[in-house]
Amino acid sequence: MHPDLSIVIPLYNEEESLPELVEWIDRVCTTQGYRYEVVMVDDGSTDRSWEVVRSLTDRFSTVRGIRFQRNYGKSPALYVGFKAAEGNVVITMDADLQDSPDEIPELYSMIVNDGYDLVSGWKKVRYDNAVTKNLPSKLYNGVNRMITGIKLHDMNCGLKAYRRKVIKSIEVYGEMHRFIPVLAKQAGFKKIGEKVVQHRARKYGSSKFGWERFINGFLDLLTIQFTSRFGKKPMHFFGVLGALTFLTGFVFVALLAIDKLRLGDQVAVTNKPAFFISLTSMIMGTLFFLTGFLAELVVRNAADRNDYITEEQIGW
Ligand code: UDP
Ligand code: MG
Repeated sequence: MHPDLSIVIPLYNEEESLPELVEWIDRVCTTQGYRYEVVMVDDGSTDRSWEVVRSLTDRFSTVRGIRFQRNYGKSPALYVGFKAAEGNVVITMDADLQDSPDEIPELYSMIVNDGYDLVSGWKKVRYDNAVTKNLPSKLYNGVNRMITGIKLHDMNCGLKAYRRKVIKSIEVYGEMHRFIPVLAKQAGFKKIGEKVVQHRARKYGSSKFGWERFINGFLDLLTIQFTSRFGKKPMHFFGVLGALTFLTGFVFVALLAIDKLRLGDQVAVTNKPAFFISLTSMIMGTLFFLTGFLAELVVRNAADRNDYITEEQIGW
């Protein structure tokens, strides 16, 4: 039998926060009467985090821990946490006490009673550095909303709740933890909502992400949009691009030929810009096609080329 609730916590060098966090989660879940488990994933901490997790598993029968051999990142930590989680509802939470466990009951109820597939936290009032985090994050979320069409104010909030099927259907990898709602939407889960959540300043330790997060995040956003549209049919992208580029080159060749033949143009073709434009365009067009064919070969051999999520089966 599945527990009601799994709480998945990725952690990297958060030794001071962990006891307080687990005690608080236990207080909330016991009051609510949930059958729950806490899955703590130590992402290769170099401080005493793992010893603390070990002592917490001794104190609380509800706590389980997984430790990575080295630091892989938040997405890999969530991936193994999701694999291990058995609850009907899964809630993720940062380990640094910036997310409040008091939000758990409401998030849980939105999944169970209001039928949401995914509820994302929204740190409406935020206690991070205004210049390096809050402002760029607002901008970034605006761009996200425009490109993905998912109307969330705080896509990358660590505090989120999921219906079990969602986390079992998606695969977080690389640094895609920033885009889990996008992955869920692409997998066909429609009811994605948000809840304003309390946010707290970091009490111990330091943030693990710097300004590079915005560059990496933007690049990942492009990737995720590309793979969702063309991931299984790359030639539809590269073929169109290749054909357009090649045709552009062809038009310029035709213009050169007309000049030469009809007007008896005396200037050598190699002295005209059109010559170089046609040359590069035709080479680039050919390269796009080749890329497309190679990408098709990759897709043909991809392990997930025929992975589909069924919603229901009847008359079986
Ligand atoms: N984290 C992790 N692996 C990493 C970096 C971070 O598991 O490589 C965890 C970290 O311990 C925390 C959560 O991810 O529980 C969010 O990280 P952080 O608080 O540094 O991010 P911020 O709140 O500054 O955005
Ligand atoms: Mg934090």
